[in-house]
Amino acid sequence: MNTQLLPATDESLALAARLLAEGQLVAFPTETVYGLGAHALDAEAVRGIFAAKGRPADNPLIVHIHDRSQLNGICEVNDTAIRLMDAFWPGPLTIILPRKAAVPDVVTANLDTVAVRMPSHPVAMALLAACNLPIAAPSANRSGKPSPTAAQHVFDDMDGRIRLIIDGGESDVGLESTVISLAGEKPCILRPGGVTKAMLEAVIGEVDLAGSILRPLEKGEKALSPGMMYRHYSPDGQVTLIEGEESQVVEALRRLHTHAEGEGHRACVMCFTEHVEALKDCHPHDIGHKDDPSEVAHRLFATLRELDDEKMDVIFSEVVPPEGVGLAVMNRLGRAAAFRTVNAAEIL
Ligand code: AMP
Ligand code: MG
Repeated sequence: MNTQLLPATDESLALAARLLAEGQLVAFPTETVYGLGAHALDAEAVRGIFAAKGRPADNPLIVHIHDRSQLNGICEVNDTAIRLMDAFWPGPLTIILPRKAAVPDVVTANLDTVAVRMPSHPVAMALLAACNLPIAAPSANRSGKPSPTAAQHVFDDMDGRIRLIIDGGESDVGLESTVISLAGEKPCILRPGGVTKAMLEAVIGEVDLAGSILRPLEKGEKALSPGMMYRHYSPDGQVTLIEGEESQVVEALRRLHTHAEGEGHRACVMCFTEHVEALKDCHPHDIGHKDDPSEVAHRLFATLRELDDEKMDVIFSEVVPPEGVGLAVMNRLGRAAAFRTVNAAEIL
């Protein structure tokens, strides 16, 4: 299949809308990451998403809408959901609600709930409005790769597998949406993202955090969100996170890098902008300013992809405090590192 990469124009969006209505796959920009879309009520089309991504069939998809009336055929909406939609839609919040029968099982991986979101990216909204269909769309990467935050990332992963990629520039947030479940007794964050726990609690009161956000699942523990089971967001090299006092972390990164190179590895560090100069001999990858977790979120996945392009096999990274957007950063970075963490003081 020939994959077209087109800038977002009225013509390309009309083509994309037509392809989606015909049951084809189209990748498109959102404010979180690029999505790989298919008509959500067309089971055959949705199966195509799993095939193109190599995604395990037990990992359900998020259904994207542009108008709340589309939810009527998809899920049971409750008061808490409406308050969240009023506060955060359109935007990077996915809400899990009891599903309706019209949603194909392949979308929900046979769960009795469905994930719904209204994105805020103008190109995503224009496309959803042009086709006027609910669109199931996971991140547009091959399964196990970092999510794409630029059209070129999608092309690198999906060339030959899908018909069309709409280019809308770099994703703003850079991490996938916050996922909150309203299907249990108490609202629970299954995946942290740009909409933080504090922002949610300001609107609906106390919310729980799923246990496995900053650690691997324990043996026998059931993932509340199936996506959390998988080794996600991974570069090909081995990532180790270095925590501790700032100057010790910088020194530890330098020593670990020198040691790894001495052992013959292609080694590099992921560090804050403030430390790039001090680590200039350690192949530094700038992940953004240390007090700006949103900037780190925005750059993280593109950085992980660069590491693969450069065939790095050993990577040492700084960390951000796991608060606010930092919690979402550490959830993704932790999983990229399989939660391998070392305290700098132990190295020095
Ligand atoms: P992605 O679209 O690639 O960002 O992945 C969607 C995320 O939402 C995955 O982590 C899924 O496991 C999660 N998800 C989707 N639907 C549900 C659902 N019904 N219940 C729990 N988690 C869900
Ligand atoms: Mg994904």
